[in-house]
Amino acid sequence: MKKTKHTGPIKISKKPQPNLWASKIPFGLGKIKPHHIRDTMKVAWENKDNLPYAGRILTQGVCDGCALGVQGLKDQTLTGPHLCTTRLNVLRLNTMPAIKEDILHADIDDLRNMSSTELRKLGRIPYPLIRKPGERKFRRLSWDEALDTIATKMKAIDPKNYAFYLTSRGITNESYYTAGKVARFLGTNNIDNASRICHSPSKTALNRSVGIGASSCNYKDWIGTDVLVFWGSVAANNQPVSTKYMYAAKRKGTKIIIINPYHEPAMDNYWIPSIAESALFGTKIADDVYQVNIGGDIAFMHGIMKQWFEMEETEYGSAIDHTFVNEHVNGLEALKESVTAYDWEQLEKSSGLSKERMHELAVLLAKSKSAVFVWSMGLTQHRFGTDNISQVANLALLRGFLGREHCGLMPIRGHSGVQGSGEMGSDPFVLPGGEMNKENRKRVEDIWGFDIPEWQGDIVGVSLENAVLPEDHERKLQLYYMSGGNFLETMPNPEFVQECLENVDIRVHQDIIFNTSTFVDAKEAVIVLPAMTRYEQPGGGTSTSTERMVYFSPEIKGPRIEEARSEWEIYVDLAKRVKPEEQHLIHFDDAYAIRDEIALAAPNYDGIQHLKEKGDLFQWGGAWLCEGGVCPTPDGNGNLISVELPELRKPEGHFYVTTRRGKQFNSMIYGEKDPFNDADRYDVLMNSEDCAKHNIQESDAIVVYNKFGTFNGRAKFVPIKSGNIEVHWPEGNPLIPESVYEEHAGIPEYNTAVIVEKAETYYAQKDMKYVEKRVEELEVEIS
Ligand code: SF4
Repeated sequence: MKKTKHTGPIKISKKPQPNLWASKIPFGLGKIKPHHIRDTMKVAWENKDNLPYAGRILTQGVCDGCALGVQGLKDQTLTGPHLCTTRLNVLRLNTMPAIKEDILHADIDDLRNMSSTELRKLGRIPYPLIRKPGERKFRRLSWDEALDTIATKMKAIDPKNYAFYLTSRGITNESYYTAGKVARFLGTNNIDNASRICHSPSKTALNRSVGIGASSCNYKDWIGTDVLVFWGSVAANNQPVSTKYMYAAKRKGTKIIIINPYHEPAMDNYWIPSIAESALFGTKIADDVYQVNIGGDIAFMHGIMKQWFEMEETEYGSAIDHTFVNEHVNGLEALKESVTAYDWEQLEKSSGLSKERMHELAVLLAKSKSAVFVWSMGLTQHRFGTDNISQVANLALLRGFLGREHCGLMPIRGHSGVQGSGEMGSDPFVLPGGEMNKENRKRVEDIWGFDIPEWQGDIVGVSLENAVLPEDHERKLQLYYMSGGNFLETMPNPEFVQECLENVDIRVHQDIIFNTSTFVDAKEAVIVLPAMTRYEQPGGGTSTSTERMVYFSPEIKGPRIEEARSEWEIYVDLAKRVKPEEQHLIHFDDAYAIRDEIALAAPNYDGIQHLKEKGDLFQWGGAWLCEGGVCPTPDGNGNLISVELPELRKPEGHFYVTTRRGKQFNSMIYGEKDPFNDADRYDVLMNSEDCAKHNIQESDAIVVYNKFGTFNGRAKFVPIKSGNIEVHWPEGNPLIPESVYEEHAGIPEYNTAVIVEKAETYYAQKDMKYVEKRVEELEVEIS
């Protein structure tokens, strides 16, 4: 397959373009918008005890915020500085000192009274800790005692009874690779990572549709494409510097289309601090916004394709790129048959959009020579997430928007480690270099020198639920080893999650900080292990961005936490204690040796072995995957996949709810108010017409409930699609049912039907049940 190389960053003109301005009033005075300068000053103040080190992290390290990707202050898309408040906000995690002794060993109930935000600010975990049932405080342990306790338990139980989980913030490819290898060395395939709850359907769908598991294109392809579509993605909030690329795209005449239930203000107008004209007058980002029902995306995409097929009836070639389809695509007739079988009424009802609106986007795309589709959790976190993404791939394949400049499919990632985690094999379905099939297993076994278990490992949610299985069950979870993460605040139904966490014999939290899940009891022991940040690891580490750039982040000179160790080193040390007789098979001299082995085990990553200095990077796969339309599928063709309209399961009069992010980085909350819309964390975003029907005024106390849980908040009127509401994540998680997983990729469903009522009393932030539930309505089957 041809592999064109990425050509590096481009320069954008500084000449003002007033037609792109959001406002003629300088600095958007009087508008609700983020205050970047004030936020930057606040971060400088927070880091005042370690400013030189903070400066070195920013100028030498690879960002541990989102996966847009930046090394130092430079990226591969545009010349000029790349920095955002998300990166600044997480900076303190790297520069803060250790937690004070008296707090570290405080009564467990005192620690339990703190929120994750308060806990994050306490400082770093300095040394290993243990707490057993009945003990009120954590006790200090030596590393030997801690790892021997875990190893003794692992030796005593079957490998099916333990599991590993790795989060995505800051973890390097080297640690993911080592964890994946150690898990298999110990005999378990129960290893999963944070991408399971964000982009696993993207990988599964792209694989079945076009044979790839990552973005097919680059951010540079946004700049000058005819149409840039953001589908269920608020990139301006979650990947802030992406707005700079959007600005550059607008200058080249690109039309930006937003598809979301809520007309997100962040995707409408943005004041980009690093671009003088935009910092002053803002930039109008969205050219058009399609407000689709939560879960109505498949119907919307059916509508676009149905329109295309109708256009083809009138004029052959007016919508479909037949040359591309004939040469590179399978399944046209079957797709046409399934799409055209739906009538417009069904598609309008499910999508919430009129036939005319669907027609508008269909025509825009049909008349465009290029388009890039970018999506995020608005599409993936559904029980039909894989079908959602395959539908996006269907659109791209029918129009030939794949494998060339200004075209492509981009699942934009929110965490710096998340792209590499699966590619390194920290995933129950994947090994380095590809799927867990017979051929790849044999290839990796030959490199590793030991057998890889053949049984199917469990995904993170199932591993967690395995904790409440009967004691004698083959898959009963007895030991859970977690590198970061807080299931209490990321998974649906926190009460059930707590029960699961409590039912494990030993829980290991390998982390840099405490979070609320660290204080949940376990049946035998909770062990806390202090990890290094990516900037502290000897030999440095790498991380992979959304656009497949593998960046080297060097070890950065600065203060160190007493006993924190490289995460990869902890895994190896543990593995050697469990199987001392085979320890030579799992040994690495240093991080360079790991990269040497990754290059062999994951052929796409050939080149990682040369990354040694600040500034070193490469892009795996070249500038475009599926270049020239040739896909890495068995026959080289992309597959059009026919999907059915999902049943939305919303009883008449109920609302559909989804969760959104405010001023936060993933589950870390940095502000009680969303700077883009002034919403409080407990505000319920509602359509004013819906509220009028329920006699609800703006700011009224309301209760949102279903048979799974209750959310007490206040009504906030916003331009959201009627019949849909949004609440913040993770606060809204009690409304979401546990154990509802997407069929193909195992992502939990994060949307459900709810009842909304005016409340007698406002109970926000209190753990109280709504006592006025209309019981008969709760009996309606909605999941
Ligand atoms: S946009 Fe993402 S990669 Fe860039 S600085 Fe911000 S958090 Fe880091």
